[in-house]
Amino acid sequence: MWTLRSLCEVSRTGWASRRRWSRAVSPLDDCTGVSPHVSTAQRDHVRLEWRTPYPALERARPVAWTCVCRSVIYELRVGAGQGFIRRTVQLDGGHQVLESRSWLQREAWAVWADLLAGRVR
Ligand SMILES: [Zn+2]
Repeated sequence: MWTLRSLCEVSRTGWASRRRWSRAVSPLDDCTGVSPHVSTAQRDHVRLEWRTPYPALERARPVAWTCVCRSVIYELRVGAGQGFIRRTVQLDGGHQVLESRSWLQREAWAVWADLLAGRVR
């Protein structure tokens, strides 16, 4: 006989396996519970300049990204010794993608850490 508790257990397991499946398909899917969420921007945070993607950087691969359950996703992308941050706003009618300037990879990781901490946005 089904109790409320066993029903909850079933839906939780179903959800967990669906999430595993989603992750295998695309990083831009449901909340994985693994990727970090950005902290609220601090009052004196540094504002990055966000611009439309530069084609030459398109082959850079994502090495870190924030949780996709938020409407704005940030990705750290690196390639050819450089790194930059991609900002994707998930909208009903599609995604708006903007990117930061690029830095040396080492500096890009520092900016990424500041972004997660809310010191940069
Ligand atoms: Zn999340």
